Amino acid sequence: MDLHLSPEDQAFRDEVKAFLDEKLTPDMREEAARSAGVWAEGPLVKRWWTILAEKGWIAPAWPVAYGGCGWGLVRRYLWDTALAENNAPVLPVMGVNMCGPVVMHFGTQAQKDFFLPRMLSGEHYWCQGYSEPGAGSDLAALQTKAVRDGDDYIVNGVKIWTTHAHFANWIFVLVRTASMDKPQKGISFLLCDMSTPGITVRPIISNSGDHEVNYVFFDNVRVPATNLIGQENDGWTVAKYLLEFERGGAYAARLQVQLKRLKALAAQEAANGARLIDDEDFRAKFAALAIEVEGVAASERQVVSQMSAGKAPGASVSSVLKTRGSETGQKVTELALEAMAAYAAPDFTAARLGQTNWAPGPDYAVPVMARYLNMRAATIYGGSSEVQRNILAKTALGL
Ligand SMILES: Cc1cc2nc3c(=O)[nH]c(=O)nc-3n(C[C@H](O)[C@H](O)[C@H](O)COP(=O)(O)OP(=O)(O)OC[C@H]3O[C@@H](n4cnc5c(N)ncnc54)[C@H](O)[C@@H]3O)c2cc1C
Repeated sequence: MDLHLSPEDQAFRDEVKAFLDEKLTPDMREEAARSAGVWAEGPLVKRWWTILAEKGWIAPAWPVAYGGCGWGLVRRYLWDTALAENNAPVLPVMGVNMCGPVVMHFGTQAQKDFFLPRMLSGEHYWCQGYSEPGAGSDLAALQTKAVRDGDDYIVNGVKIWTTHAHFANWIFVLVRTASMDKPQKGISFLLCDMSTPGITVRPIISNSGDHEVNYVFFDNVRVPATNLIGQENDGWTVAKYLLEFERGGAYAARLQVQLKRLKALAAQEAANGARLIDDEDFRAKFAALAIEVEGVAASERQVVSQMSAGKAPGASVSSVLKTRGSETGQKVTELALEAMAAYAAPDFTAARLGQTNWAPGPDYAVPVMARYLNMRAATIYGGSSEVQRNILAKTALGL
């Protein structure tokens, strides 16, 4: 991207660099570099969150009126790139990026006043309670029930795959408040304090050996009716609005940095008695991948420019970005695994989790296999690739 930075943006880039040099300590960078998860672990999240919140840099896309940065496209690009290049811990998106825009758009003044500042400060750590054992792609099939009882709803049911529920203290949940002619009707959107009696979180361990996702059980959980967002039975409208923000994430900066690392790694690894980076077959694969990453960057600039103009990204472009971003991300981890050759085989878990200083291979090999395994889920969560292609068929092709 040819940025043609204005003097103000150049000054901003320098300010970001100075800030990261000072605040992002080597131990935080190292832990983040070893991480294979979609986000940093909870304690590191809290540490980094507090630093960014104190600086006022936790919500780049939020309007200044709500305590956000109100940064435009160029600054957000500079920020994302600087974070990725400096191995900054990746922060969860459920609060600021997903629930925040929903509260701003559908919330009452009282809800905005209560939730938005706590979302920014990190006092509220959010997770997302959409999916259920029988409702993933077909989300409208959800069965978790909420029955009105005086000033409360009483919630019963189970959510699954709830990322970071074991760190979170708030959850936004989709619940069924009525049975109507269409499954999309009769759903409501509730905000729920995770310390409410009746909530149990149970871990699910992923194929990479990490604990990121969970079951969340609701057993007669009382949620104040004041925590309903939007209208009762009209939660589907809220849920769909939120998903546009979930799918319009930032992929490009991280993919570009991963490619750079892969290139550096290939300059150290050997193939057929020469450097891997000089191997013709590897170079062709790398070049094809670099072109794909540029494509993702172009789609992302389109989404970010809409969001910085205060508009929701729109279903088709979000779906393009989700599909291309996650599938390209998988390919980067596949080529990294291939580049590792024999180092792909040993178990690096203890080194990755900081349980030992010894690793059965070079430092750069530590997270490669776990990242490859973890990225398998990227084409499932946030709406699977197949479902995104269905959306595109309808919205872009009119099928
Ligand atoms: C690591 C991870 C983290 C997650 N985090 C969260 C979270 O924090 N909160 C949350 O609420 N959920 C979360 N999810 C759940 C995620 O959104 C669902 O897994 C996803 O929507 C798919 O639903 P499912 O697992 O029930 O699969 P299913 O919907 O049963 O799909 C199974 C397969 O069938 C395909 N398929 C389904 N319907 C169609 C169709 N109409 N046309 C073509 N193909 C179809 C799918 O693409 C998939 O390949 C997470 C999932 C994972 C794996």
